[in-house]
Amino acid sequence: DWSTPNWVSWHLSLEDLGSTPRQDDFRPNDALPSGWYQVQNFSYNGGGFDRGHMCPSADRTATVPANSSTFLMTNMVPQAPVCNQTTWANLEDYARSLVTGTNKELYIIAGPAGTGGTGNSGLLNTIDNTRINVPASVWKVIVVLDNGSDDLNRINTSTRVISVIMPNSNTIGSNWRNYRVSVDDVEALTGYDLLSTLPTATQTVIESRVDNL
Ligand code: MN
Ligand code: MN
Repeated sequence: DWSTPNWVSWHLSLEDLGSTPRQDDFRPNDALPSGWYQVQNFSYNGGGFDRGHMCPSADRTATVPANSSTFLMTNMVPQAPVCNQTTWANLEDYARSLVTGTNKELYIIAGPAGTGGTGNSGLLNTIDNTRINVPASVWKVIVVLDNGSDDLNRINTSTRVISVIMPNSNTIGSNWRNYRVSVDDVEALTGYDLLSTLPTATQTVIESRVDNL
């Protein structure tokens, strides 16, 4: 109904990273059910917001099809340019550095929340003739594991989880660490039960902690 994803979730490991350049082939997702509005590559034009990737292009550089898949408009939300290009991007870079520099693998969930963001044309609730909701914030949850196998069973109360809620605004600060919250905060914002495959006792501990590394 809002012409954005509710959430996008992906796994990130060294196998996803290579030398494939940005394909930049923004395009509608024709796999949506018939009758659903298909956001076009030009639908964000003039609205003052970036086509903000949820799963970043740079997280899928192993193959051309993998990179191209991140340019489906179902992976985009209208994101304030400063948020997208600085704070959000800095967290994306940090997440990849965990994989490339410290031998981690990551499970990541990200999405928009609420209505009303401040981009290059000021505060807007919608773009594209009211078809596309402009979120008030964007959120992300990153589960950090040492690279290995049997991932689900290795997640425990000591597992690092990085969660953020960022205002979808050009007045955002550049330091992503200032926007850290708990998973519980993201769940309260979105109404979702995140990490729901984990035992409740594990969720209780790792979802209430705020990352401080
Ligand atoms: Mn981005
Ligand atoms: Mn949960």
